[in-house]
Amino acid sequence: MLLSSFLACAAIEPGTPAADPDSHVIVVGAGAAGLTAARALHDAGVSVEVIEARDRIGGRTWTAGVGPAAVDLGASWVHGTEENPMADFADAHGLAYIPDETRWKTLYDETVGKALGDAEWTVADDAYDAFEAALPDLQESLGQTTVSVARDQWITDEGLTGQEARLARHAIDQWMVELEYGGPVDTTGLRYFWDEEDLAGGDQFPVGGYGGWIEAIAAGLDVSLDHPVTSITYDADDGVEVVANGETFEGTHVIVTVPVGVLRAGSIDFNPELSTDRLSALDRLDTGNLEKVALVWDEAWWDGSLEFIAAGNTGAFPEFFDMTELAGAPTMLALYGGRFARDAQADWTDTQIVDAALAVLATAYDRSIPTPTHTAVTHWTSDPYTLGGYVYLPPGATPDDIDALARPEGEVLLFAGEGTDSTYYGNVHAAVLSGLREAHRLGVDRFNIGGWESW
Ligand SMILES: Cc1cc2nc3c(=O)[nH]c(=O)nc-3n(C[C@H](O)[C@H](O)[C@H](O)COP(=O)(O)OP(=O)(O)OC[C@H]3O[C@@H](n4cnc5c(N)ncnc54)[C@H](O)[C@@H]3O)c2cc1C
Repeated sequence: MLLSSFLACAAIEPGTPAADPDSHVIVVGAGAAGLTAARALHDAGVSVEVIEARDRIGGRTWTAGVGPAAVDLGASWVHGTEENPMADFADAHGLAYIPDETRWKTLYDETVGKALGDAEWTVADDAYDAFEAALPDLQESLGQTTVSVARDQWITDEGLTGQEARLARHAIDQWMVELEYGGPVDTTGLRYFWDEEDLAGGDQFPVGGYGGWIEAIAAGLDVSLDHPVTSITYDADDGVEVVANGETFEGTHVIVTVPVGVLRAGSIDFNPELSTDRLSALDRLDTGNLEKVALVWDEAWWDGSLEFIAAGNTGAFPEFFDMTELAGAPTMLALYGGRFARDAQADWTDTQIVDAALAVLATAYDRSIPTPTHTAVTHWTSDPYTLGGYVYLPPGATPDDIDALARPEGEVLLFAGEGTDSTYYGNVHAAVLSGLREAHRLGVDRFNIGGWESW
């Protein structure tokens, strides 16, 4: 316990659990949500400790060294800077970010076997805008059917065929669904699709990666790494007992921030069992899939970033970002999601994934590709401490299900994490907001941390 920190108790409202000097809050998970909650409580004078399964902090933010390159293998972008507590924290702590000014140099259509020009980019952009505009009517008329039905129906209704249809499908499937939500297009619910809020300010990249930002949030916290939590016993009178790696941690409250995929898998045994409301919400929700392949060379042999429309719109490696400037070494970062990510992650080795990504580059640039000096392949889909990219709504699920995950179970078991924020789920700022929300719930009325004073 960090008893000295009780000196700062003024920020806590009397009569709340956190105002009790005997309170000790256990936070499960050292991702953005858990670290935010812990830091907000700690700096308000509450005794808090964080228990983390992995040998590192950050969760789905992970700035890794891939040879000489520093690459974000989890979250890369700050999606909006206005009303974003992550950006506010960065501003207050001198953590820099730069606008995403990706130069899309090549749009390659595998079906016709050539790179396309500005006219075709415009067709794809227009399809994106037109489908977005058509969504309210489609949602009204089709309700809880799937996006794929609506997408196919819309393409037919618009009379798009051939390359126009391929471009429209790519724009909808990749830009709006699979690289955005991660869920396969055929299992993504239409009714609430594209409904969540966007923050103003544009997409930015944290300079040096998210890692430095996460380290800054974690400053001063007591974090036990390599401690996968296997059971949590909770009782309003007796407090909580959290078992991890053979050790039992006792506290007055616990905030569980593990991903929705981990909760859905039942990896943690809760005693008493979680409420039916939460279990049925977990049943309706799902986690999408978003994966990355980082490819690093001694010298850049390409120019700009690549958009790739695989034959049959399979979603195979649709985007390669030129990350050279940010990574500090010549680096391409391939993103892929949805059905293709599920299948590739289930069936392919890392070598096969890298080779398939290199084959796409060879096709698109019509040249032999030098062997990368270093590579990294992510496995968020199968990683036992993530089990998916982030939460999305299949048909039948609603934002109320996400709200159900945000509610505490009784007085001492609380939840945070991106998948508990129905306004911004799937984002780092959703995770941060959920951490601040739970610190408020435990009675911290005002945060005395740079950037979070007004949150
Ligand atoms: C590939 C990818 C790209 C993304 N890109 C972006 C982006 O560009 N911008 C953006 O805003 N968002 C992005 N996201 C989403 C963003 O990364 C997440 O929304 C956010 O980081 C989630 O934070 P969290 O704290 O809720 O969960 P996590 O970061 O997953 O933290 C949960 C923690 O719990 C730990 N844990 C799990 N099980 C246990 C257990 N049994 N015991 C103890 N600890 C456990 C985990 O190890 C983890 O550290 C991306 C996600 C992925 C996967």
